[in-house]
Amino acid sequence: MKGQLMKSEAKKIDGAAPSAYGSGGLEGRKNTLRAQKDVSASDPGPKNLTLNRQNPNSNLPPATDHGTVPPIWYSFDLVHRRMQEGGWTHQVTERELPSSKEIAAVQMRITAGSYRELHWHVADEWAYMLAGEARVTVLNPDGTMFIDDVEEGDLWLFPAGYPHSIQGLGDNGCEFLLVFNQGDFSEESTFLLSDWIAHTPPEVLAKNFRLPPESVAKLPTDQLYIFRGNRPESLAADIAEATADARAKSPSYTFKLRSMAPTKKTAMGEARIVDGKNFPVSRKIAAALVTLKPGGLRELHWHPNASEWQYYIQGSGRMTVFNSSEQARTMDFNANDVGFVPAVAGHYVENTGDTDLVFLEMFVAPEFIDFSLNNWIRHMPATLAMDHLGLDSEEIDHIPSAKEIVL
Ligand code: MN
Ligand code: MN
Repeated sequence: MKGQLMKSEAKKIDGAAPSAYGSGGLEGRKNTLRAQKDVSASDPGPKNLTLNRQNPNSNLPPATDHGTVPPIWYSFDLVHRRMQEGGWTHQVTERELPSSKEIAAVQMRITAGSYRELHWHVADEWAYMLAGEARVTVLNPDGTMFIDDVEEGDLWLFPAGYPHSIQGLGDNGCEFLLVFNQGDFSEESTFLLSDWIAHTPPEVLAKNFRLPPESVAKLPTDQLYIFRGNRPESLAADIAEATADARAKSPSYTFKLRSMAPTKKTAMGEARIVDGKNFPVSRKIAAALVTLKPGGLRELHWHPNASEWQYYIQGSGRMTVFNSSEQARTMDFNANDVGFVPAVAGHYVENTGDTDLVFLEMFVAPEFIDFSLNNWIRHMPATLAMDHLGLDSEEIDHIPSAKEIVL
């Protein structure tokens, strides 16, 4: 009896059923909006103001957000940096962002002349140069060698098991993002040349390398991983030396992404798409480099073939992920943050800052594919669209019909 009285009193004050939030519909949204404007939104307890300020869309979420969406945000600025003379590395994997089962990523700094040691690994490696210059080498199974220099905005792809190296060039070396098609990949478990040599009996090394014991004694006995080295010869000289006896030519494992003509360009931004169609060695990893001007919107869309892993290079924005079943989550993203969208989940990205927002969309897929909501609405019979949306034909005609990508 007492409980019923309290319930009806609450109803009188709120003007909405106490269970309105659970509905996820209009009544719940109205209730949340009222709460955000009154004492209900106050927060007299402890808070991390730095995080609060960075995440206005978590602190005061859009009323359309509802339910529990798996984690969609992480940041490279939260993870341990392994430092060694010559640079550092850190990683965001499935261990840090459990939703990301298909992709793990590493960010690495290599100073001028220093190496990421000769190695290989179980996953494919797709990389984007964030700053500076590097020389990369990779060996093909037929013995041909690929060598190239990469700079900011370029990328490379090393297939699983192919041995490779990275060396910092120029005055200040480089920093890059590595994307692996395996969520639980670890940069600590790559196959290092030094590690193998340190764990092979010296007499076997002597036999294999046809070296006397005094030479074998000079070989590394511990992991090198990242270490300082000598600056290389010119690219032309290195290529001439490595390919002097080559009968075949290596395919290209590098790609100039940022300097290629945009795949799509509008008044509000541009998108550059790279996948197996324009970069044939990238058979399993597809990407889009998206630039949104202030106020620009990566339109409402979804990807039918893979989950999406994002890296924010510059600027600030927000993304809402719609994950069916009345579940929607909005979060804010800044440079060096990672975003995640479950496979087929609807999403948009909006530039909320006053500078360009630049980010990468990454997929474990042979091809970049997306469905645009606008494109769908405008390519169905108008009656179908009008009946579903409650709009008249004139209103439907306002909706962009082309797949704009950026609006
Ligand atoms: Mn590697
Ligand atoms: Mn997307």
